[in-house]
Amino acid sequence: MKTSKLFFPTLREIPREAELTSHQLLLRGGFVKSVAAGVYSYLPLGWRVHEKISQIVREEVNSFDGQEIHMPVLVPKELLDETGRSAVPVLFALKDKNQRDFFLGFTHEEVVTDIVRSFVNSWKQMPLYLYQIQTKERDEPRPRGGLIRGREFTMFDGYSFDISEAALDTIYRENYRAYGRIFDRCGVQYLAVEADPGAIGGSENHEFMILTPSGEDTVLSCSTCGYAANAERAEVPSASSDDAKAAPLASEVVSTPDAHTVEQVAAFLKVSEQQIIKTILCTTADGKTVAALVRGDRDLNLPKFSRVVGGPVELAEPGEVVRVTGAPVGYAGPVSLAVQLPIYADNELMEGGNFVVGANVADAHRINVTPGHDFKVDHWGDIRTAVAGDRCPRCPAGELADARGIEVGHIFKLGVKYSKAMNASFQSETGEKVTILMGCYGLGVSRTMAAAIEAHNDANGIAWPINIAPFEAAIVIANMKDESQISFAKELHDSLAALGVDVLLDDREERAGVKFKDMDLIGIPVQVVVGKGLVDGKVEIGLRASADGRQVVAAGDAATYTAALVAAEKARLAPKQ
Ligand code: ATP
Ligand code: MG
Repeated sequence: MKTSKLFFPTLREIPREAELTSHQLLLRGGFVKSVAAGVYSYLPLGWRVHEKISQIVREEVNSFDGQEIHMPVLVPKELLDETGRSAVPVLFALKDKNQRDFFLGFTHEEVVTDIVRSFVNSWKQMPLYLYQIQTKERDEPRPRGGLIRGREFTMFDGYSFDISEAALDTIYRENYRAYGRIFDRCGVQYLAVEADPGAIGGSENHEFMILTPSGEDTVLSCSTCGYAANAERAEVPSASSDDAKAAPLASEVVSTPDAHTVEQVAAFLKVSEQQIIKTILCTTADGKTVAALVRGDRDLNLPKFSRVVGGPVELAEPGEVVRVTGAPVGYAGPVSLAVQLPIYADNELMEGGNFVVGANVADAHRINVTPGHDFKVDHWGDIRTAVAGDRCPRCPAGELADARGIEVGHIFKLGVKYSKAMNASFQSETGEKVTILMGCYGLGVSRTMAAAIEAHNDANGIAWPINIAPFEAAIVIANMKDESQISFAKELHDSLAALGVDVLLDDREERAGVKFKDMDLIGIPVQVVVGKGLVDGKVEIGLRASADGRQVVAAGDAATYTAALVAAEKARLAPKQ
């Protein structure tokens, strides 16, 4: 391919709407064009990267008998009604001319389960693994970061159908390993972490994170035993301290004018934030209000709390807070509530006593409050967010460290969650009717593209890992007035193409400096410069990302040298398992 024919509208300026590096570079390099918030067109360079990632995914999933299908973007509402997911908030909804309700597919569990229940009815037809690489539509409340969080994006979504837990476990492990190979080949460092299943449901699940400071998620991991989990999920081990507890003192209400936040109350009463209990009122799915208590310096973790409560919970509306506390928002406490509520307390509050809590009275707090002594705890549980420095929940010596990550994949053991709701069953070997066991496996193709840039860039632009670069090698003709440079470069281009190298020839009538800048910006990993040295039979060849710069190579060896460099870069990205 020649740049003189390639459509890649690069921008010199950093686009104002883009905050994240990957978003800026995708726009500046002419990879994508913004169409609407969270909606993009892929231009030729962007689509090449997209297709290279898709192909890696395909190859790895086909290696364990995954079969590619293609399901529609348009999904009739009735299918989602069967599983109760027609109320999922991110759904784009529309009607056809006959007022029939449709959704735009946000993930395809129902559509694929409908295929399988229609045609699979015997144990002999499984294991079965169907997948697609397809456009997904989600009306994300906060589209952000270009391809990181789009409203239209590309997902690989795979679905497994099995007759037993053991078979589900086998295919789950198979996927887990394939994801590792995919991210190795894409040249991104990843970490598989235990995660919250969220709206998808099911039991065991893992997220695959690309670790980079710009990531939205916090992951906690233990370097001693390898435990790793999303902070939404990470467990906090129960306290083991047998420290003698301070004797409960007599509690009393004290005035705390204008002190609303934990910091303000701590400063006003001259106590540490650890000595304060936050009382957070939440509403359950069936409309009940419950109180969650965590230490002042901790955060209530809603996904974990939801699991302890046994269903989704959200923060209570201010009006409800006022009703149950009898006070303005900001003074809730577990003692003398206006309305009696189930009280859930974080395990950590078993340690210590004589805490400060809200008094359920404006501008007042209650001091010397000890759980179990001054109020009854209905349920103890692990409901706070884990933080760096917490003890590892899996090994005695370990301590958790934190890092930021971008979730690029999420795999789930669904069990019978969808198959039961949709009546997808089979006849077992012994003739019984059994519900099919499912797993689902998602990988963000477009998000991986952006995350790879977050992980691999410098001041000059993108430094693509070679397997997902739009081209593997670029040949820059330094002087377009020099016929010998032009003809040598063209020959080299053809020889490299014949050797199977995905090569780009920069033959634009531009200054050499402009071309170098553009090739750096679009991130072609291997760079060949055909310039002045050619009269002495020399060209320069090197890696974009290497600090060593380019090496002077005999022109006659240029093709083999370049091809070897490409091969070496590819070998570096060989899957580790
Ligand atoms: P998130 O928590 O980031 O919103 P999710 O948990 O809703 O994502 P899944 O339903 O697990 O996402 O989707 C599988 C994969 O699809 C994700 O791991 C991610 O790589 C990708 N993905 C999800 N939402 C988006 C989006 N809005 N834009 C780009 N990729 C996305
Ligand atoms: Mg997810």
